[in-house]
Amino acid sequence: MPLSASVLIDGPSELVFDYAIPEGLPVVPGCRVRIPLRNRPATGTVLRVAEKPQGDFALRFLTDLVDPEPLVTPELLNLAEWITSYYGTPLEQVIRAFIPASIRGEKTSAKTQRAAVIAQLPSEEELKKISKRAKRQHSILQLLEGSTEPIPVTQLGGASASAALKALSEKGYLKLIELDVRRDPDAGEIIIPTEPFTLNAEQAKALDAVSDSLASEKPDPILLHGITGSGKTEVYLQATQKVLDLGKNVIILLPEIALAPQTVRRFKARFSVLGDKIAVQHSHLSQGERFDEWNRIRSGEARIIIGARSAIFAPLRDLGLIIVDEEHEPAYKQENPPKYHARDLAVVRCRLEKCSVLLGTATPSLETYNNTLSGKYKLVRMTQRADGATLPLTRVVDMRIESRKQKGRDAILSDRLRSAIDERLEKDEQVILFLNRRGFARSLQCPPCGHAIECKHCAIPLTYHRSEERLICHICGHQAIVPKLCPECKDPAIRFQGYGTEKAEIILNKIFKGNKIARLDTDTTRRKNALRDTLRDFRAKKIKILLGTQMIAKGLDFPNVTLVGVLNADLSLYAPDFRAGERTFQLLTQVAGRAGRGKMAGEVIIQTSTPHSPSIQFARHHDFYGFVDQELEMRRQFSYPPYTHLALLLARSSHERRAEFTLETLHLKLKEKLPEGIILGDPIPSPLTRSHSQFRFQLLLRGPNARVLSRHIKSILDATPTPEDVIVTSDLDAYDLG
Ligand SMILES: [Zn+2]
Ligand SMILES: [Zn+2]
Repeated sequence: MPLSASVLIDGPSELVFDYAIPEGLPVVPGCRVRIPLRNRPATGTVLRVAEKPQGDFALRFLTDLVDPEPLVTPELLNLAEWITSYYGTPLEQVIRAFIPASIRGEKTSAKTQRAAVIAQLPSEEELKKISKRAKRQHSILQLLEGSTEPIPVTQLGGASASAALKALSEKGYLKLIELDVRRDPDAGEIIIPTEPFTLNAEQAKALDAVSDSLASEKPDPILLHGITGSGKTEVYLQATQKVLDLGKNVIILLPEIALAPQTVRRFKARFSVLGDKIAVQHSHLSQGERFDEWNRIRSGEARIIIGARSAIFAPLRDLGLIIVDEEHEPAYKQENPPKYHARDLAVVRCRLEKCSVLLGTATPSLETYNNTLSGKYKLVRMTQRADGATLPLTRVVDMRIESRKQKGRDAILSDRLRSAIDERLEKDEQVILFLNRRGFARSLQCPPCGHAIECKHCAIPLTYHRSEERLICHICGHQAIVPKLCPECKDPAIRFQGYGTEKAEIILNKIFKGNKIARLDTDTTRRKNALRDTLRDFRAKKIKILLGTQMIAKGLDFPNVTLVGVLNADLSLYAPDFRAGERTFQLLTQVAGRAGRGKMAGEVIIQTSTPHSPSIQFARHHDFYGFVDQELEMRRQFSYPPYTHLALLLARSSHERRAEFTLETLHLKLKEKLPEGIILGDPIPSPLTRSHSQFRFQLLLRGPNARVLSRHIKSILDATPTPEDVIVTSDLDAYDLG
């Protein structure tokens, strides 16, 4: 039966065309092929192979294979199909994510350099002659003779040695070859090997759970819930060793690899004796480095892959274990197409490849924790800090009182936090201050009483939309007028939640004159290495106070930091998102984990206008289980994840009315054929009303079954033609609600 192949053409247009496969050519999905395109030769990647359609048109034949081996393993193709059916993403988008552009486009290639190697040593007699008449040739021969490896020409004198090298090669004494050069992202770094530590009883139990899982035919995912500082990384390291001992390979996912240089270094140090078996994969690599690292994975040279979310697609064979560190982190959610959640894909990939998965965190996501309650995942706990250190003392400061005391001023610092900072500066200790500012949404909160205006149906704060002068609920679309007085205490001071990091920095500089303060947020870290340089200066104690957003909440380990201040916990607590409570609990717990990691005891001060809010109180007492009990109850009551799946539909266009009208049309159609159990919200303007000069409108759907939800949306989208200048996207299991 004649076969045809759908080929994703290389290049920016990313077209897909069908070609007939010449008889006998072993073309399988994932292969790179040469094809005729218009009248030019081109290259592409095979997405699928099917029987040739019996149409009245003739397909052109593809020319041949670029590489006999497919670039995507059969296991990864299964994962690609799973993603396509779950998220409703086109297969070509998924394949594009699997194979980096530098590999597909062939614009990047292996880097080589000329090197010399001994072909045949001259006889003693001739060597004497050379040493007399051609000193340069003689010393080159001596260098090469003493080396078991080829020596790059640059090290033999480069251009100045070319005549001598030419003469030697003409006499047949040496060969000039092209040597592959690896572009190593961490070249020049000095690694001191480490030995495994002795595990404490809790760590040993966690490692046993991994061993059991590795021995199992159908292993269940493991949630490792270990408090900050409980020594999770050592468990990861020893688990990795066990997998390598079995002859299998490991993927380690980290949420923000730029923020985790310490973790990467610890892996390199532990496994340095294995030679170079570690490859890294993240967005900070150059095209060349990415190309080389990817090829080292594909060839089987690398056995431990450490990377950010996209490393879940690493073409690694014989997978034994995937470790997802900080599994609760929203950074695992890919927000550009193809949208996916890397933690969820880790679980799926392990199921497909029958290997183990270890999800580690101090603050499990409710989705993952709920899976341990239902018995799908196994739970292992580590409740002690590994080094015997105690958790920091956490104090909550009531900013309602401060706002009364500091009338007419922006109450950024309470007296308590201010004197605590002064005390640290005097003792030459360091301070981290957090100001969590995410998203564009503004909610209303009353400073005198702390009251935040919520949607009566959804238990989330209403968001202020300036263009409509209205408060709108992001979940259901409910609208309300903006009150002039606080409905709770009748005070007219009710206003939008306040200042950002930039303003805070200015005020802090005035208060703590003469002490170096650095700010870390998305604005200050745009410059390459800005983050690394700031962290280095902080470690060297050149910076006394580090002010940052949630981007520095995790992973940082500075023994000299004895005080952590959260300037305004309400900013994250009253974000218009049903996960706000969970995020705040996670943030406060992670933040507290930054204090007192050395010998000195740590202190955490949380400033808030709602000191009795459960997220704050449970975080203060380090009580995860108390927190999830009440939070899960709220989620169940209002049909939020993990009890439902959630999809966000977004329409954007430079024509405001057209975007709005398109979404209204979709809303009507979705409503018409609504399957049972799906809750459909009303279309609303997005919190980020305009971006890249496009107007944005969105609506939310929730339902108990992800595939039903995704199919319903896809069938309506496919059946509804949208105007050319309107783009509609759907995001299943959405995290960013706008
Ligand atoms: Zn609502
Ligand atoms: Zn009030």
